[in-house]
Amino acid sequence: MTQPTYDCVVVGGGPAGATAATVLADAGRHVMLLDRGGRIKPCGGAIPPRLMRDFAIPDHLIAGRVVAARMIAPSDTEVDMAVGDGFVGMVDREVFDEWLRVRAARGGAERRTGTFDRIERDDDGCAVVVYADTRDGPEHRIRTRCIIGADGANSRVARSTFSDAERMPCVFAYHEVIRSPAVSDTSFDRARCDVYYQQALSPDFYAWIFPHGDTASIGVGSAQKGFALREAVGRLRAREGLAACETIRREGAPIPLRPLRKWDNDRDVIVTGDAAGVVAPASGEGIYYAMVAGQEAAHATARFLATGNPRSLRQARRAFMRAHGRVFWALGIMQHFWYRNDRRRERFVAMCEDRDVQNLIWPAYMNKQLVYAKPLAYLRIFLKDMRHLLQTAG
Ligand SMILES: Cc1cc2nc3c(=O)[nH]c(=O)nc-3n(C[C@H](O)[C@H](O)[C@H](O)COP(=O)(O)OP(=O)(O)OC[C@H]3O[C@@H](n4cnc5c(N)ncnc54)[C@H](O)[C@@H]3O)c2cc1C
Repeated sequence: MTQPTYDCVVVGGGPAGATAATVLADAGRHVMLLDRGGRIKPCGGAIPPRLMRDFAIPDHLIAGRVVAARMIAPSDTEVDMAVGDGFVGMVDREVFDEWLRVRAARGGAERRTGTFDRIERDDDGCAVVVYADTRDGPEHRIRTRCIIGADGANSRVARSTFSDAERMPCVFAYHEVIRSPAVSDTSFDRARCDVYYQQALSPDFYAWIFPHGDTASIGVGSAQKGFALREAVGRLRAREGLAACETIRREGAPIPLRPLRKWDNDRDVIVTGDAAGVVAPASGEGIYYAMVAGQEAAHATARFLATGNPRSLRQARRAFMRAHGRVFWALGIMQHFWYRNDRRRERFVAMCEDRDVQNLIWPAYMNKQLVYAKPLAYLRIFLKDMRHLLQTAG
């Protein structure tokens, strides 16, 4: 048997995979970054300043700057939440993902375009990644010391490695990318994200209008099988006067809602990003978490390559959950409770009008930090929250 060709093959070149490949290549590891290409990831493209800072995202990748969010309740009551300092960046995933892959290649990762099919084992136990350039093309077999599966919510790597990957709970999200209206004869605002909490648009998640400069994403998510997502987006476009805008793309994809219990196979395979289920419940925010998880997967892999000890791989999940597990847990409860029916959604949007609540939400989103400096504000939020809960129950 020959030596493995690569230290690591990263399957999937989205935010998680491209980040993992960059970190490993920067650490001097021999890495292959395999992506099937040919499809733009369906995504609202909203990213927080923390991501731009931590992952050195240049300004030219920011297609739009959002400075406020408008929450729309079932009664059509609108609550505007100004960001305050800074802005939420809106990225075009076609450009953003490709830039991340180019950065990985610049750092030394070898890029391949092809579709991963399966993992095989040679007689010496070495992992072999089997992929094809095209659907009917010849197969390639690549020997590698380890594999990072970053191939998204329908990950073949995860499904071939973990029994619970198939049953990962998901919201299905569908959006239409439109040409932004030229004149403001609609309520559309290029600097504001609109979020709709209404049963008719989504029975268990939310609908959105996200501006991206010259284009916009209008979408909706739901975990309810049979809910007509396309019709919901059609209704939203009609009511906001956006039906006549040119439609550039129509597309959908699942959003995972719970991290897998295990991310590695105790040997030489680890999954990350959507493939590991790391998207924030309630908001569906996944780009930042995919990049952080990709980074953690790369650090854990680097330790594994240095020591040969497969237990090092476990560190990726541990480190990620230590940093973000509590927030995911709290957002999961929030989604479960407040997105349940229109009465609760009405209360939820009403709560967002509260200054204390806004002062808690924005820093948590923008900087991924909870502000512990104001215990009195927390007490006030707790009391107001209890009042809303009691009114909802009553
Ligand atoms: C409609 C929608 C709107 C969203 N809006 C937002 C938002 O506004 N903000 C936010 O933060 N998150 C949003 N998300 C979530 C976010 O898009 C994901 O969490 C994020 O893209 C996950 O990154 P990833 O790298 O793990 O996976 P992906 O971005 O899915 O990347 C996976 C990569 O793997 C490749 N791949 C897949 N299968 C194979 C294979 N067999 N062989 C080779 N390559 C393969 C794909 O080509 C792709 O490049 C949204 C999701 C959806 C569906």
